[in-house]
Amino acid sequence: TIDTARLAGMFAAIADAMSADRDRLCALDGVIGDADHGIAMELGFSASRDAVAALDTGSADPTTLLNTAAKSFLNAVGASSGPLYATAFMRGAAAVKGKTTLDDTDAVALFQAMAKGIQDRGKAEPGEKTMIDAWAPAAQAAGEALASGKGLAGSLEAAAQAAKAGAEATKAMIATKGRASRLGERSLGHMDPGAASAVTVIEAMRVALT
Ligand code: ADP
Ligand code: MG
Ligand code: MG
Repeated sequence: TIDTARLAGMFAAIADAMSADRDRLCALDGVIGDADHGIAMELGFSASRDAVAALDTGSADPTTLLNTAAKSFLNAVGASSGPLYATAFMRGAAAVKGKTTLDDTDAVALFQAMAKGIQDRGKAEPGEKTMIDAWAPAAQAAGEALASGKGLAGSLEAAAQAAKAGAEATKAMIATKGRASRLGERSLGHMDPGAASAVTVIEAMRVALT
């Protein structure tokens, strides 16, 4: 089972992964955006890590932790990924309201609520070359795997694979949302940085939660 301390550890793991991935993400954003995506993600997850580490994990519940992460991420990040991930964690917080520990079903519900939060906030549909092209298939794959009895480890493994394939597929897409949409057809052939970072986030979540 997953408790508040485990979720705090998850934010620490994502923050580490973002620091390691920062330069690659900035380089990807440099091609079709403004080259700040790695910095934004590192800043956001470091802020969330620090804010949740300061909570008393003995008394704070998962909802409080996720709302704390959301608030600190939003305050730390000026780029468009700020409100998107902040909404993801707020929706995740709402999805596990009232729970002190999360079972496999709760954890997948949290994961799917994050994806839906990003989609509701940014209004992107799959195929528009955004992080949704990684998050939406990942959320669907997690749900299907859980329904077929695979448990949390199998579900997050399916999610990570789907995210990776989704991010890869953004190379063949023309951006119609976000900064890269200004490039039109010139965005073709390049991976979307937000989809690339989503793969890193999801993989870090998988390792931290299973
Ligand atoms: P900015 O473009 O403000 O510099 P970032 O570089 O942090 O922000 O993030 C860029 C990423 O945000 C894009 O690669 C894309 O994946 C994602 N993105 C942009 N707009 C949207 C949107 N409306 N919905 C979902 N994701 C989006
Ligand atoms: Mg950018
Ligand atoms: Mg920017």
